[in-house]
Amino acid sequence: MPHYDELRPGEPLFGMFSRLSTYFKYPDKRAIVEETLGTGNAIATLLLPSHIDAFIARLPPGVQLSAESVIYLNTAFPAFAGLLPKKRQDALLNMMRSENSFGIHYLTGLMSSRIPLFNYLRLCPDCEVADRHRYGDCYYHLVHQMPGVYICPIHSKVISNTSVHATNKQMRYYLDPAEIASNRSVLANNNSLVITEHESILGSIAAQVQGLLDRRECIDIHPQIRTFYVDQLKTQGLATPSGQVRQQDFLKQVTAFYSPELLDLLGCSLSNGIESNWLADLVRKTDHAQFYLPHLLLLHFLKCTYDDFLVSKVGTKATPFGKGPWPCLNPVCPRYLTGSIRSCAVSYSRDAGWNPVGTFSCKCGFSYTRTGPDTTNENANKLSKIITFGALWDDELKDNWNSPRVSLRQLARLLGVDPKTIKRRALLLNLSFPRPLKIVRA
Ligand SMILES: [Zn+2]
Ligand SMILES: [Zn+2]
Repeated sequence: MPHYDELRPGEPLFGMFSRLSTYFKYPDKRAIVEETLGTGNAIATLLLPSHIDAFIARLPPGVQLSAESVIYLNTAFPAFAGLLPKKRQDALLNMMRSENSFGIHYLTGLMSSRIPLFNYLRLCPDCEVADRHRYGDCYYHLVHQMPGVYICPIHSKVISNTSVHATNKQMRYYLDPAEIASNRSVLANNNSLVITEHESILGSIAAQVQGLLDRRECIDIHPQIRTFYVDQLKTQGLATPSGQVRQQDFLKQVTAFYSPELLDLLGCSLSNGIESNWLADLVRKTDHAQFYLPHLLLLHFLKCTYDDFLVSKVGTKATPFGKGPWPCLNPVCPRYLTGSIRSCAVSYSRDAGWNPVGTFSCKCGFSYTRTGPDTTNENANKLSKIITFGALWDDELKDNWNSPRVSLRQLARLLGVDPKTIKRRALLLNLSFPRPLKIVRA
């Protein structure tokens, strides 16, 4: 029996409601919202929902969830708020806790930008497979719905548009669950050419957005972030030693770095000249609220990340698992023990005593979790649980399973697990039992 506090890693609050609505087979789709939020008038939205206090107040006794933990773990708040001035961060947080959602998007700086929200709910085909393997069904992930995210930061795959609208026009309190969305046809993407052409930049932006989502606190970064930008521009000769930004050259270099098609796709066009563009606004002395995408584009141009800024200026730790990248722990992967994993999804669950649990996924298909926080650098080479083995690992097992030259113990050592795990996996893969006896040479 699922519970209302069983939010999965990176799962939006309304994503869980839609998932549970099929599980409980509510005859009336409004009933679940009424039961969990105390009103049928809340608008189902994945990114920045309101009514969080009402949700917490209606949880069964003994459930240790706070409004803040839900807002940080299962809404887009940390990414939308992370780069805003403190006043706006607080106003946004309070609005999400309250029952008034009017003006939420205005606070994020999104409204004054030309950055589009996605009209359709989105799924990564590889996340779907991994989720089904782990949970038996799939679910919506916050990161895939975030403005500017076109590539899955875990699988480096292009995210597909399902035909489910991001807001339901007929039933505003309800969204079709991911299981239904994944069975519907995928919408053709008008931008697929621009996306494939810019896959590497878009992948790096997606990883940065994931990094923002993984943050567990929002600190006031103004005016330090402007100083950080100007310092970086100085090293590139784009600002004078006294901190005067050479706006013409700066604009010229950034427009040469990003193609106009890419900037259009992201709603961050720079065709208006120097006087009014997001680039000039970012390095001007104003606390003009800027959405996260302009910041991430500038950071990427400067070959920096938000974490670099935090570490250099504010001195905070990036995540409970450090700054990354993190190693693949699959011994047969060519990227074994190298820093091949660029993002880590952090979740907190009852089972782990509310400690942070990081999920790390390598392109080879191998993924693992580790319960943290990490206290030393050596922690990075340890895992708590293997989540998916991946084709590479499975193939190595299959190749050696019937070989009389490799003992079970050797095979376990080769694959970095214990013999019991090997047997369990072999059973799942329908390999033949018993294994051939080992040939001992005289
Ligand atoms: Zn994915
Ligand atoms: Zn790997």
